[in-house]
Amino acid sequence: MTFRTRFAPSPTGPLHLGHAYSAMLAHDMARAKGGEFLLRIEDIDQSRARPEWEALIKEDLAWLGLAWDGPVMRQSDRMAAYDAALDTLWAHGLLYPCTCSRRDIAQAMSAPQEGAAPALGPDGPVYPGTCRNLRPAPGSPRPKDQHLRLDMKAALAALSGTIIFEETGPSHLGRHAPDAGQFLTRIGDVVLARRDFSTSYHLSVVIDDAAQGITHVLRGEDLFEATPIHVLLQALLGLPTPVYHHHRLIRDDAGKRLAKRDDARAIRSYRAAGLSAEDIRALVDL
Ligand code: GLU
Repeated sequence: MTFRTRFAPSPTGPLHLGHAYSAMLAHDMARAKGGEFLLRIEDIDQSRARPEWEALIKEDLAWLGLAWDGPVMRQSDRMAAYDAALDTLWAHGLLYPCTCSRRDIAQAMSAPQEGAAPALGPDGPVYPGTCRNLRPAPGSPRPKDQHLRLDMKAALAALSGTIIFEETGPSHLGRHAPDAGQFLTRIGDVVLARRDFSTSYHLSVVIDDAAQGITHVLRGEDLFEATPIHVLLQALLGLPTPVYHHHRLIRDDAGKRLAKRDDARAIRSYRAAGLSAEDIRALVDL
């Protein structure tokens, strides 16, 4: 199988050193293996995505000497595919609408309850389940104007095998088999379709990695905790599971991970200051 990886930026700000590191690592690995390096623009949040940022991302990548293979995939063109996957999950009774605001969730969690305090999952506090038992009758049409959450317990019951993925990144090297306890207590009923844009990062990334035939997902370590959600969705939707490689994060001098608003470390600022692509590689120890 040809090695195929991707760089999947969101066009919501300029690329910074951390993005450049991720893109260069993926590109170099693809080239070293005689494989392919694809580009995907993750612009499902149309309230934050801007064509100017997408144009700058492409310009920065070209300046870094990173040529991508094949056509660029843009997630805003892919809504029909996300819709179809939501239809499948809905038809199997694995989704339910949720009308809770962040405040409702915080309140439900601060109410006195038995047992340990709810954990913090990849998307924030693990959902306390308020709307889980209020779902419409089986066979009802899928609501399009509300959050849709995955019923994690039902999802785990619908699976035939175990969830397994292989990680080649240094911090979590090896095979991982998250168990039901981890899914229920540390992840919970995640949102798969948001009220405002009818999909979610988790759903779109899984469908598009499969559609682009990605064999190796390279991305920052901050997304490692979300990977079990992705592997679970692949199992539910009958999609292949790629190998995962989560790389170290590039941090600023104070040890904080870089943010889009940190313009001093934006690639365009280094370009304007007269640095070269080689200088950028040296800055991130590549
Ligand atoms: N769009 C995500 C980001 O910019 C990357 C997601 C991924 O690589 O899975 O952080």
